[in-house]
Amino acid sequence: MSTITSQRTVASRNRVGAFDPETAIRAIETVVGNARRPVALHEPQFSGREWEYVKETIDTGWVSSAGRFVEEFEKRLAEQCEMPHAVAVINGTAALHMCLLLAGVKLGNEVLMPALTFIATANAVSYCEAIPHLCDTDPASLGLDPDKLDRHLADIAEITTDGCRNRLTGRRIAAIVPMHTFGHPTDMDALADVAQRWSLALIEDVAEALGSRYKGRHVGYHGMLSALSFNGNKVVTTGGGGAILTTDSTIARAAKHLTTTAKQPHKWAFLHDEVGYNYRLPNINAALGCAQLEQLNTFLAAKRKLAARYMEVFSNVPGATIFADAGYAESNYWLVAMLLDKPDVATRDMFLEACHARGLQCRPVWRTMHRLPMYAHCPRMDLSAAEALEDRIVNLPSSAVLGMNLVG
Ligand SMILES: *Cc1c(COP(=O)(O)O)cnc(C)c1O
Repeated sequence: MSTITSQRTVASRNRVGAFDPETAIRAIETVVGNARRPVALHEPQFSGREWEYVKETIDTGWVSSAGRFVEEFEKRLAEQCEMPHAVAVINGTAALHMCLLLAGVKLGNEVLMPALTFIATANAVSYCEAIPHLCDTDPASLGLDPDKLDRHLADIAEITTDGCRNRLTGRRIAAIVPMHTFGHPTDMDALADVAQRWSLALIEDVAEALGSRYKGRHVGYHGMLSALSFNGNKVVTTGGGGAILTTDSTIARAAKHLTTTAKQPHKWAFLHDEVGYNYRLPNINAALGCAQLEQLNTFLAAKRKLAARYMEVFSNVPGATIFADAGYAESNYWLVAMLLDKPDVATRDMFLEACHARGLQCRPVWRTMHRLPMYAHCPRMDLSAAEALEDRIVNLPSSAVLGMNLVG
C-alpha cells in the first residue's frame, strides 16, 4: 500500500484554483481510457470458473437449499476473512438483520449507527423494531467518529443495571454498528473502546469491505458479529448474497439455525423450535461465489492500482481530491471517492450531469439517513460532518477491470 499512502502527499500539490468539472472529467477519461461507454460505476467480472461451478449445480439438480457449494463458500470465506466462522445468507441486509437479533437488539431499543451509510444499515435496525440513533462521521475515515460519539454518550446516556440507557428517551441503547465506507476501514480500536465503556454490543457492517484490512488484519474481527454483502455491485458477487462473520462457535451455530427456518436436524420430520428465517443462500449463488472468491486477490490488486492512478491524475485537478486511507488501514477501494474541497451541491450536480453526458457513471454518496422521510425523526447527534460530506462526495467508475486494463 505504500504507493497509495504516498499519494496523500502528492494529492496536496498543484491544487490551487476552483473545481472545474471539465478538468476533472478529463482526468477520469485518462484513467478509464477507451473502456466501452457508458463506463459503469462498478460492474462484476466473471473471468474464472463461474460457468463451470454454476453448471455443476444445474447438471446435478442441486441449485437450491442443499449441495456442496454453500459449505465450500463458507469455508473459503472464513479463510479469506481470517475468521473461524462464516454463515452464508441471502443478502447483506438479511445478514445485518440476523447480526442485530443475535446480539440481543429488541423492540424499542436504540442502535447507534452512522447517518452517512447505505439504507440497509438503518432498515436492518427497523426490522428488529428498534430505532436507529444517528451518529456523525469522521472525515478522516468516512466512518463513525469515535470521539464525537463518546462525548455525545456522555451528554445523553447513562449506565444502568440494564446496560446503556438514553436519558432523553428512556430507551435502552443496545448496540453500535460502525460501517466501513466504500471499503475504507474505520477506526475500530477506538470504537471498540467506546462500545466497551458504554456496554454496547458491537456489530460491524463490513458489507463493502471484503478484502480490507485494519492494522494488518482483515476487517470484521472487532464485532461480536459482522455482516458482508455479495450484491452484484460489490467486490465479489454471488448474484445476491451475504454472510455473517463471528469468532464465537455458539453464535455461529445459532446464526445457521436462525437463518435456516430454525429446523432441528432429523431424517424426515419438520421440527422447528423458534420463529426462524428463510435467509439461506441457494447453492447456485454459492457456486458463483466460490468462483468469485478464487479471483478476489486479482480484483483487489487491480482496484488498488486503479485507485493509485486516480490519485495520480487528480493531483492536478484543483478543488477536489481522491480519498486515501488512514495509515492504519488498507482499503479494498471498493468505490473510489472524489471529494470536493468544499460542500457545494450545485457544483457536485453539475459535475454529475457532465459525467453522465460523457458516458461516465459517477454517483453521489447516499442521502444521510435523517434526510429521508422514515428516519427524519430518529434520535441523533449533531451531524454537521456527515451533512458536509454528503455534499462533497462523488464516486468514480471503480470496476476491477479498469485497473486490469491500465498499462504500467
Ligand atoms: C451493500 C450494502 C449492504 C447490504 O446490501 P444487500 O444489497 O442487502 O446485500 C449493507 N450495508 C452497506 C453499507 C452496503 O453497502
